[in-house]
Order: sequence, then structure tokens, then C-alpha cells
Amino acid sequence: MKISLSGMMPDEILSAVNPDKPYRAKQIFKAIQSNITDFNLITNLPAGLKKNLYDNFTITGSTVTNVLRDNNSGKLSITLHDKNIIECVLLSDLKGRKTACLSTQAGCAMGCLFCKTGDNGFSRNLSSSEIIDQFIFLEKEFGEISNIVFMGMGEPLDNIEALFKAADVLNNKEGKGISYRRMTVSTCGLADKIEYMADIGQPMRLAVSLNSANQEKREKVMPVAKKFDLGKLRESLFYYQSKRNKRITIEYVLIKEFNTDKIDVKYLKDFIQGLSVIVNIIPWNPAAGLDFQTPSKKEIENFLNLLDASHIPYVVRHRKGEKIRGACGQLSSEAYG
Ligand code: SAH
Ligand code: SF4
Repeated sequence: MKISLSGMMPDEILSAVNPDKPYRAKQIFKAIQSNITDFNLITNLPAGLKKNLYDNFTITGSTVTNVLRDNNSGKLSITLHDKNIIECVLLSDLKGRKTACLSTQAGCAMGCLFCKTGDNGFSRNLSSSEIIDQFIFLEKEFGEISNIVFMGMGEPLDNIEALFKAADVLNNKEGKGISYRRMTVSTCGLADKIEYMADIGQPMRLAVSLNSANQEKREKVMPVAKKFDLGKLRESLFYYQSKRNKRITIEYVLIKEFNTDKIDVKYLKDFIQGLSVIVNIIPWNPAAGLDFQTPSKKEIENFLNLLDASHIPYVVRHRKGEKIRGACGQLSSEAYG
């Protein structure tokens, strides 16, 4: 199998390719990060080097096998070299700002009951190249993207090495130069990895999928809550904030008659007490075969009124990408047409 260069830093390209002149590595890096996916189209390289590149390397190791568009969002289905299928999503807001929602694993091992990705099980971790490929393909399809959320398929902090590497490549000033402040990692609550992020000063933003601030309820829908209970999770967020001092996003999927009651708001209020957070409310998106329901408009409104009354800061995430099954929790490796 040829080695893919898209997830490599210039110095890694240098040692992998070993070109006649060291500065060639930077030229190759720059070309790849400007979304050139064919060595032939890199105009400033000598023929001999191009032949070496063709014979031994590829730029992206994966292939786009389906493109769906819906107004200002879109979804790509990507087939990996081993035939695993992943998806990534492009979201645009009203100001035209584009955000890439990238996958970090083929499937997910965390098994959250309300999530289509979790329902399909885990296949494997993605490499940094396979994460970057998604971004390159999204930009080729939809134009320049300013923000990244690692919120697609998989648990990013369960594949931390490739995740951080991909972020570093996307941040590199010789390439896309996307600032870490415009990247967000979403986790189901791996407390040990949150503390690790704090310890190493990982500059990306943090989002935590809470979904319920009651231990019993959370365990019911998120098996990971047994390993890292709410106490431990809360402790890790305090630790994170003591070191990083950054507002954390708390994701809260609203599920009909499950986590929408007055008492649920009280649990939430207690959980976030003393933390600097914004709660991101996501009405549950339907996914085939999952036994949950979206709350009615009235149930959602009632919940939002309770948040207001408790002075809990929140935003409601609108159901972007629903038509193309590109909304949160709807990504899966199933083929679609
Ligand atoms: N594994 C990470 C990131 C991917 S999941 C995590 O759990 O945070 C991204 C977000 O989608 C999470 O906040 C999750 O709670 C939410 N989600 C999963 N299934 C959903 C569904 N069916 N409807 C709405 N949101 C969902
Ligand atoms: Fe995995 Fe996140 Fe889905 Fe849970 S919500 S199964 S952690 S992708």
C-alpha cells in the first residue's frame, strides 16, 4: 500500500520522501494543504521527484463515494482503503461561516443508545491522514472552511494521538493555518483524557456531551457514565478550567420524556455550578432503529423556559443537515443513495 502524505508535517514528509533538496518537503506540504490531490498538479517540483512520489506515495488515501447537498450544508461519504465507510459534514451559518464536522473513528465503541454511530458499533481508529482527507475533500467540494468540530463519527478522545496530530497539521502556518480556537473537540466524557488535555495545554476548545446530569439516567443511555461517573467528570472539568480557563460547551441532547423535566434542569444547574459553560441544546434527531423520540415543540419550549428561569446560559442547535442525514447522531457507515 502506498503511504498517504496528507496527515504529515513538513519534517515527516522530508524523512518519508527524502527529496534531493530539503525545501521540497515544504513545497509538497503546502501543495497538499492547498487541496491539490494529484502530484501532477504540483507545478514547482522536478519530474524525477514527481515520479518518486507517484510510485511510492498518495496524497489522500481515501475516496469520496457520495456527495449530498442541502442548501447550506452537505455531507460526504468517504470510503477508506480497507472499505470502511465514514462520513463528514459541512455546516454553514447565516453569516456564511463554514464549519467542518469531522469523524475520528470508523464507528464508535462508546455505545450511546440514542446515537446511530454508537448503534453501528466500532470498526477502527482513523489515522491523521484519514482525518485530514475529510477536510481537504470538504473544502474541494464546498470552498474555504474556517472552523472545525471533531463531532462526527467516533469518540475523538479515544483516538487522541491521531486527533492531536491532525489538529497540528491543520494549524500549521505553512498550510491551512486554522487557529486552535476555531477547533472544538467533543467528548462523551472521558475524564482522564480531559485532564490530559489540560495537563499538556491542548489549545482546542472542549465540548462535553452530558445529556443528563443525573447519574442513573446518564448511565441508562451512555454506558461510559459507569466508567467515569458524574462526580469524576465534574472534577475533570474543574481541573480543566483551573488550567485552561476556557468556557466549556455542555451538549445536551433533548429526548422526549427522558431529560426534559424540571428536575432535570435542577440536576443540570447543580452540575454546572461554579463552571464556566454554555449549554448546547440539541433536540434528538431521529435515526432508524433507535427507540427514542424527539420532544414536541411545547416540551422543548418548556425546557428552555426552565433554563431561562434558572439563569443557565444556552444556545439551541438547529437541526442542520437533517434532510441529508448529516445531523448530530445520524452519521453511520451504512451505504445510502
Ligand atoms: N463522540 C463524541 C462526538 C461525536 S457525537 C461525543 O459523544 O461527544 C456528537 C454529538 O452528537 C454528541 O453531543 C451526541 O450527544 C450527539 N448525538 C448523538 N446522537 C444524537 C441524535 N440522535 N440526535 C441528536 N444528537 C445526537
Ligand atoms: Fe460515540 Fe458520541 Fe455517538 Fe456516544 S454520542 S456513541 S460517544 S459518537
